[in-house]
Amino acid sequence: MAVLVTGGAGYIGSHMVLALHDAGEEAVVLDDLSTGFPWAVPDDVPLVEGDIADAALVAKIIAEYDVTAVAHFAARIVVPESVADPLGYYLANTVKSRALIEAVVTAGIRDFVFSSTAAVYGNTTVSPVPEDAPLAPVSPYGRSKLMTEWMLADAAQAHGLRYVVLRYFNVAGADPAGRSGQSTPHATHLIKVACQAALGLRPGLDVFGTDYPTPDGSCVRDYIQVTDLAEAHLAALAHLRGGGASGIYNCGYGRGYSVLEVAEAVKRISGVDFPVRLAPRRAGDPASIVADVRRIRADLGWVPTRADLDGIVMQALAWERELLAREGA
Ligand code: UDP
Repeated sequence: MAVLVTGGAGYIGSHMVLALHDAGEEAVVLDDLSTGFPWAVPDDVPLVEGDIADAALVAKIIAEYDVTAVAHFAARIVVPESVADPLGYYLANTVKSRALIEAVVTAGIRDFVFSSTAAVYGNTTVSPVPEDAPLAPVSPYGRSKLMTEWMLADAAQAHGLRYVVLRYFNVAGADPAGRSGQSTPHATHLIKVACQAALGLRPGLDVFGTDYPTPDGSCVRDYIQVTDLAEAHLAALAHLRGGGASGIYNCGYGRGYSVLEVAEAVKRISGVDFPVRLAPRRAGDPASIVADVRRIRADLGWVPTRADLDGIVMQALAWERELLAREGA
């Protein structure tokens, strides 16, 4: 009995594999290694290199490893890239998910957990934002994920599939035991960029916009620690296995930090006063997006334990140092 983790060699997927592993569950990873890393998958977890849309391959994995549930992480996730290459994003995230869902339905698998995003809410002015807020994604990335949410709902209605959609807010940090982290070389995410500035890998941090209607003028985000997020997936799996209904859940802490607050935390924890430049707004950034987390806490009983921003920054810094040490080795 195993959980099929697509994208299990990537940032969030690899933390899911570790969480399953730590919980004594069997996993099998399907990843095309386009952005993932084979070393991110523990040695005793099978890693199949291939395409999630390869129905024959998915059927073979399901049979061979006795797969009983799927956690679907494999996706392209860079918003500006999705604006430049929308058809590529609809193929990778929507069309291929359709093929995967079909293979899963054909194999008679019932339980499916899907990685979605707060980007489905677009430039919301509702804060904190609940799951039933209007859905108005402003990028092909957000739309490619929302379409997959809709496919899951329709497939569930028609074929008895049951699913949990998790809408991630700003995922950050690294495995507290140092086994994985955000390893994408050109990642643009704030905490990673700030940590790289602290380590001298970048000249400094540009703060994109300081004239937003927020307490200090910079954007506010709800940063969720990646292991806590992986554990939300375990809670979702337990819910589905226990006969729980399909549902859609925000994954965040319900607490926001501004870009300037994050920059200060990284400076304080690293002890490095790296340059912080006030830069123009970045296109498409909502001023503030914070999760309403009442539903996930009530329905899935998920209790995050790593919500402390300082802890997240410490893990992110430790992981950047680890990547540097590996490069130098
Ligand atoms: N940000 C920034 N400088 C950077 C990277 C990000 O000011 O070098 C800001 C960005 O404009 C946003 C917040 O940090 O307001 C979080 O951005 P990130 O790209 O980490 O995640 P997003 O919220 O876009 O998914």
